[in-house]
Amino acid sequence: MAVYADKKVCVFCGSNVGDDLKMPVKMQQLANYLCAHNDTLVYGGGRLGLMGKIYQDIIAQGGKVIGVIPEILKDHAVRPVGQTTLYYVSDMSARKQKMIDEADCFVVFPGGLGTMEEFFQVYSWFQLGLVQKPIILVNLDGYYDDLLKFLQHSAKTGFMPKANVEALIVGNDFEALFEKAADFKYVKANKWRN
Ligand code: AMP
Repeated sequence: MAVYADKKVCVFCGSNVGDDLKMPVKMQQLANYLCAHNDTLVYGGGRLGLMGKIYQDIIAQGGKVIGVIPEILKDHAVRPVGQTTLYYVSDMSARKQKMIDEADCFVVFPGGLGTMEEFFQVYSWFQLGLVQKPIILVNLDGYYDDLLKFLQHSAKTGFMPKANVEALIVGNDFEALFEKAADFKYVKANKWRN
């Protein structure tokens, strides 16, 4: 079984914890996978919600973190300890660009609007070939079922290639998800039909 080791894994997730107690438990599993495989967490540098949870879970195991915090959110930043590098950037766009540049792959965990904004930035650049790295969607308890339904609808009605829906790595089990990420090869789908 291929493992995803010695990589930089960018995690987009809620700055809230959410109401489902399974969310922080699942986050702990993600932190465990990253630490067990010497991966570095790349994330938004926040201390709140699931963002803060993964930070604490990784640092508690002596893992490595790169955080990227924009000026507007500097009061929400973690206090960097252990193997943490915290970059301060001017704005949200610079932050996203930095996270995209640093990462080898993207993990979209349950979250709200900020998480969706980051997901769609990376995914829309994926269809243009500007991002050619694997994108994992963690569909815990069907959290992203409706999003996936929308993407399938978009493909069915001619607004995006079906191949790009199928290119997303979707599931719940990190061993299986990261195995697919390790084997991932980018193929640029034809977005425009004519
Ligand atoms: P949301 O899903 O709306 O909670 O937004 C989470 C995403 O937006 C994260 O991946 C962060 O990059 C960014 N973000 C939103 N709120 C914060 C915050 N308070 N501190 C740090 N980053 C945040």
